[in-house]
Amino acid sequence: MKTRFAPSPTGRLHVGNIRTALQNYLLAKRHGGQFLLRLDDTDAARSTPEFAEAIKVDLERLGMSPDATFRQSDRFARYEEAFDQLKRDGRIYACYETPEELELRRKVLLGRGLPPIYERPESENAPVDGVAPHWRFRLDHASAIEWDDGVRGPQHFEPAKISDPVIRRADGSWLYMLPSVIDDADHAISHVVRGEDHVSNSAVQLQMFDALGATRPALAHTALIVAAAGKLSKREGAKGLEALDEEGVEPMALLSVLARIGTSQPVEPAHDLNALAAGFDLSTFGRAPARFDWAEVAQVNARLLHEMDYAEVADRIPEGVDAARWQVLRGNVERLGELEDWVDVFDGEIAVPALDEEDRAFLEEAAGLAEGIAWDEGAWSALTGELKARTGRKGKALFLPLRLALTGRGSGPEMAALLPLIDKKRAVARLRA
Ligand code: GLU
Repeated sequence: MKTRFAPSPTGRLHVGNIRTALQNYLLAKRHGGQFLLRLDDTDAARSTPEFAEAIKVDLERLGMSPDATFRQSDRFARYEEAFDQLKRDGRIYACYETPEELELRRKVLLGRGLPPIYERPESENAPVDGVAPHWRFRLDHASAIEWDDGVRGPQHFEPAKISDPVIRRADGSWLYMLPSVIDDADHAISHVVRGEDHVSNSAVQLQMFDALGATRPALAHTALIVAAAGKLSKREGAKGLEALDEEGVEPMALLSVLARIGTSQPVEPAHDLNALAAGFDLSTFGRAPARFDWAEVAQVNARLLHEMDYAEVADRIPEGVDAARWQVLRGNVERLGELEDWVDVFDGEIAVPALDEEDRAFLEEAAGLAEGIAWDEGAWSALTGELKARTGRKGKALFLPLRLALTGRGSGPEMAALLPLIDKKRAVARLRA
């Protein structure tokens, strides 16, 4: 099992291609195979080394380190060789039409009610003086294109109904189609998982594998991502790693959602990629679009944090939150960014809302009592038990003024767990203040 993720380094990763990377990563890992990163940078005008670097960093950050990385711009000599071979075999031919001519021909065909398929020459196109040719791949019309798609099931294409694809421009630059096949063949890629927008490319590419005498990979085309309600807006879809940085979303929250949408399996918070890989199964993918919602990611994020051990978050939470404090706080945060404020509850200043005279007197009494009790797991029940007996207060009237004075908030973790983690002197001072 060998898979690859083949982004063009023309931008940062977004939810759509993070999902494609994830599917290929999980498929490989599920079967103990390898996952390759291929940078499709043949478009020199739009590809940048900065984006290539960002993609590597981002994959690393998401935990999907590739077993090997290569870029297409390093392989031009190899493409040239394959090009020559296919030309010798009569599978690549030169074309001299201008875009305007092609457009005109298309219109004529459409006008006659015919499909606008490129009308290939009988044998070779006659060279046109002073015009550098572009190049097309000659589809074999004699053999129907068939494959059993890992998601879509049996596929059938009639090559005569497809235009011979342009594979190389007149300036010698490469289009996506052929280099991808050469790379997949040379790297012995066994499985290609990608979006269903590539289905018709696949039909053409399978004939290229055959023409090169290469083994065809298994193919699976997954339904595309849409927003939970309607279309995924450009902004929502383009958001990827920025959301992790700016909104404190855990990588595993995003990946937990992306791994399961579009499948018959429920979205569950997964703590690591191995857990997702164990359940990854192409046969559970449906044909309906995969519904994606950042709100679901936020929910999964909260559920994930509530279950996370200190060791899983220690490297990215504020220093003031140690293992004991994390244990108490984790059930009350939806994003790690909220922890900053909680550090102040332990070690800093808190703002307490105005309290009435009666509550103030009650807290004064609480302060005096607090001084005398043992500051351990029993502190809260000792304090409230004694206060209840003395004042007759119970329920909210008993607990809320204490919580407000001690934490500055009306809600939060169990006070029994929280109180002993606040320094006793500080707690007494807050009650008194
Ligand atoms: N660079 C292509 C893309 O991002 C790769 C497609 C493929 O997986 O072959 O669409």
